[in-house]
Amino acid sequence: MKAVIGLGSNLGERRAVLARAAAEVERLGTPAGRSALYETQPVGPPQPLFLNGALALETALGPLALLEGLLEIERRLGRIRAERWGPRLIDLDILWTDGGVLSSPRLTVPHPELRRRAFALRPLLDVAAHAKDPSDGESYARVLAGLGGDSPVEIAGTRYSWA
Ligand code: ATP
Ligand code: MG
Ligand code: MG
Repeated sequence: MKAVIGLGSNLGERRAVLARAAAEVERLGTPAGRSALYETQPVGPPQPLFLNGALALETALGPLALLEGLLEIERRLGRIRAERWGPRLIDLDILWTDGGVLSSPRLTVPHPELRRRAFALRPLLDVAAHAKDPSDGESYARVLAGLGGDSPVEIAGTRYSWA
């Protein structure tokens, strides 16, 4: 399965946190590309700006095992869940896979908010330029073009290195 993982951080040394998280996520399969990093406006209560990225992974894991691996990395890096949509050290979400739609109590793929989130779509398109919504076949490039709101700001020099 090919999967695109979205990464976000708005606490601590955000860039170092994302670099470390990415290296750990890539151990769950074979790395297949990293996006640039983007600074983005938070959703939810007032809080620091996010740094967001995405990476593509070829993995032998199924979707639920992949989610387990991501949650384990979040715990290891020290994420503490406080208020919903509050600030966090690291968030690792499955944005999309090439396996179509999955809807279970613990996991929904594509990510249920993906179509509304420029901060997830912009990096996803860096690593999966032709990805489409499996429900209706619409390209995410089109979906992103139709979104209003603040655009993610690409951090210069991060397309080839997050370190
Ligand atoms: P949001 O869903 O708005 O991005 P969040 O990422 O902050 O919120 P978390 O606290 O990280 O939410 O995750 C809560 C639960 O969401 C996870 O334990 C997981 O079971 C569930 N979940 C459902 N679909 C997904 C997905 N595609 N990727 C990651 N987690 C998911
Ligand atoms: Mg999330
Ligand atoms: Mg999450």
